[in-house]
Amino acid sequence: MINISKPSIGKEEIDAVVNVLKSGMIAQGPKTKEFEQEFAKFAGVKYAVAMNSGTAALHAALYAAGVKENDEVITTPFTFIATANSILMQNAKPVFADIEEDNFNIDASQIENKITKKTKAILAVDLYGHPYAYDDVKEIADKHGLKIIEDACQAVGADFNGKKCGSLGDIGTFSFYATKNMTTAEGGMLTTDNEEYAELAKQLRHHGQSEKVRYEYFGLGYNYRMTDINAAIGLEQMKKINEWNKKRIDNAAFLSKRLGKIKGIKVPAVQKNCTHVFHQYTIIVKDDFKMKRDGLMEHLKQKGVGSGVYYPKPLHLFKHISKFGYKQGDFPVAEKLSQQVLSLPIHPQLTKEELETIAKAFEEI
Ligand SMILES: *Cc1c(COP(=O)(O)O)cnc(C)c1O
Repeated sequence: MINISKPSIGKEEIDAVVNVLKSGMIAQGPKTKEFEQEFAKFAGVKYAVAMNSGTAALHAALYAAGVKENDEVITTPFTFIATANSILMQNAKPVFADIEEDNFNIDASQIENKITKKTKAILAVDLYGHPYAYDDVKEIADKHGLKIIEDACQAVGADFNGKKCGSLGDIGTFSFYATKNMTTAEGGMLTTDNEEYAELAKQLRHHGQSEKVRYEYFGLGYNYRMTDINAAIGLEQMKKINEWNKKRIDNAAFLSKRLGKIKGIKVPAVQKNCTHVFHQYTIIVKDDFKMKRDGLMEHLKQKGVGSGVYYPKPLHLFKHISKFGYKQGDFPVAEKLSQQVLSLPIHPQLTKEELETIAKAFEEI
């Protein structure tokens, strides 16, 4: 079976973990600090704050940006649940705007009529590794005095006009979950140029304490700390991420060349001036394709090709979110695409033969 994802763990990562285990410093310590410094450089920001998950980073981002009870945050309904859950963690309301069919990200032209007096921020997602429409969204945010939080959990290394994902907003967030383009097993990172936001994120991570004064609590905090075991893995992964992303981009070019010729299949588009790092390679199975999406999935499975649906149900239809007054029909593009998207293996460990197997499995239909 050709798996939809596969973590790349080499001898370097294993040795780095063993060294931390032998060092006597296994919780948050010097390796975490080093990882933060390296990651800040990579993402082109002044500050990076390591977290134990991408969800923790998102929560800390909303907290640091001052999102509070009864505030509204505009976001996309077509993303992983953690994006919207982080808004709920601050007791704020997720307000959705529909997405663009062309790149699956929030449609900037749908944002302005969702803005109210309560709107505090826009939470934009770089879905599948494609940057959100930074210039259009930024223009709206600036005009209305809104903050932008960027969920770059799928977009490590991607960029918009040379500006790295994670720096395309007031605060950026990353996930290093096992399936992401780079991993620390579990882990996350918050990125920002704003010193105060970085400080607030560090407090939330550490039970509400400043790192300078122990046992002085500035408010409710959590334990969102990363361990040096995870950070040591992250430091090794950082040395390889550019090469891996390049492989993903090459694999995507190969598949698009072959699948792009097939009637009823729409291959992923890359918007002008954007680098897409293909966390997912996601096609649209249109109505005029010979099979329905789920039938195609079954056919691929029989040919030894794994695939996945990200995501089968838009977020406004889940009970704990629909209670804000959402229903089927509210976001037609997201609803339609949730029935038509299919993600194919694209990870950097794929061989030429495996890529050929994937392409052939389509061509024979
Ligand atoms: C993976 C992911 C998250 C959550 O990250 P975790 O590390 O699993 O908590 C949030 N948003 C998006 C878009 C993701 O892909």
